Amino acid sequence: MSSVQIREQAYIDGAWTTPSTQKTYQIVNPATGEVLANVADCSADDATLAVEAAHRAFGPWSKKTAKERSVILKKWFDLIMEHQAELARMMTMECGKPINESMGEVVYGASFVEWFAEEAKRVYGDIIPPPKGDRKVMAIKQPIGVSTAITPWNFPLAMITRKCAPALAAGCTAVVKPAEATPLTALALAELGAKAGLPKGVFNVVTASHGKDVGAVLTQHPLVKKVSFTGSTPVGKQLLKQAADTVKKSSMELGGNAPFIVFDDADIDAAISGAIASKYRNTGQTCVCVNRFLVQDGIYDQFAKALADRVSKMTIGNGLEESTEQGPLINQAAINKVTELVDDATSSGANVLTGGPRSDIGSLFYAPTVLTNVTDKMRVFNEEIFGPVAPLFRFKTEEDAIRMANDTPFGLAAYFYTQDMGRIWRVAESLEYGMVGINEGIISTEVAPFGGVKESGLGREGSKYGIDEYVEIKYLCLGGLD
Ligand code: ADP
Repeated sequence: MSSVQIREQAYIDGAWTTPSTQKTYQIVNPATGEVLANVADCSADDATLAVEAAHRAFGPWSKKTAKERSVILKKWFDLIMEHQAELARMMTMECGKPINESMGEVVYGASFVEWFAEEAKRVYGDIIPPPKGDRKVMAIKQPIGVSTAITPWNFPLAMITRKCAPALAAGCTAVVKPAEATPLTALALAELGAKAGLPKGVFNVVTASHGKDVGAVLTQHPLVKKVSFTGSTPVGKQLLKQAADTVKKSSMELGGNAPFIVFDDADIDAAISGAIASKYRNTGQTCVCVNRFLVQDGIYDQFAKALADRVSKMTIGNGLEESTEQGPLINQAAINKVTELVDDATSSGANVLTGGPRSDIGSLFYAPTVLTNVTDKMRVFNEEIFGPVAPLFRFKTEEDAIRMANDTPFGLAAYFYTQDMGRIWRVAESLEYGMVGINEGIISTEVAPFGGVKESGLGREGSKYGIDEYVEIKYLCLGGLD
């Protein structure tokens, strides 16, 4: 088995491509500061070439049978899994994620390719009972055309496959702009896609040190028919406005402010395990990470102590070490944000049970932290922390918990722990969130629809619904049949 190389050029129209500007930019390991690669810094012109290539490839790719596309996608899945360890290492080096989590992300990311290889064959239409006897009424589904994906650094592989696997399965072609910090995994994915037999132009990767210029093309070019974005809410809103000018179908997976509600009747051990998994995964840097723990009065002190005990034992370090549970944050801006939010809380009376900055092991490390005595007047109630800090808010009644949980413009993931069946159903229905974990802290899977409501986004990824984002429904009326 040949190994996956570090690629530094962009991948456009089936070729490793030097950008028109000849410019490159550095990719840096956040754990060590080491420069890993000098990657193509593409311009709007390069993005345009990629969109045009994807447009040329669309006709032949969409005309293949679903089975033919499925066979290639399945091969891509196999190759990703064969290279799991190498891809995981690459990912850990570029984003700092602990290696065990990176190994898990490869499995998770690959699962979308496998799932949609299967779903490709199930894009069914309808034959509808007609309103008059002389006609037949049908609805068929057709691939929408060139799709673009703008993705974040916290899941360098899975956020690409979650968008591009359904696109390619449906018969669309794709242009990806990976996050500036994590292009290496995306380029490795392109290499494996080519080996699997993706024809040139079907899957393109345009790397850039800043999102803006390439992003403008990917959201505004008339040949682009679908835009899919995962990232921050302000950028998502901007891209949605850009896409509006040409009325492009858009999926947005944006920020969250996930509540994790622990009721007095919860199984506390299960709640602690769920809390650790959900809060501290990827060092608190996922969009479904818990942002606010809402803990009922009667169990608050016990929960706080048990959580702090577990958290204080977590191993922090370079993600490449097997024992590491918490890696570095992605950059200095992330450290600054976490520091500001914790300072804001403590200056208004919050207590630090465990955690704090860890500059002794590197400038981008922050120890997993638990804060008690936190109130809804503090910034952590409203702002996405995106770091390893667990603020514990106190509530009295079920109504209070639901009100606090929904008191945010966001609505991505929510979690709650209770043993009461009636409460399970009441609370699940009342939460204004796209996804709810009930007695469960890790909910992402390729078989279920991932996505948010309110300002957390539009559209669903994964599951049988994920492919709908990449097809148009066309109504055919066949008349004159008398
Ligand atoms: P994060 O906080 O996760 O970095 P961002 O929303 O800043 O979230 O970035 C997510 C993705 O959006 C990245 O690929 C980034 O390059 C891209 N991006 C950021 N700003 C823009 C923009 N103005 N236009 C297009 N893409 C952008």
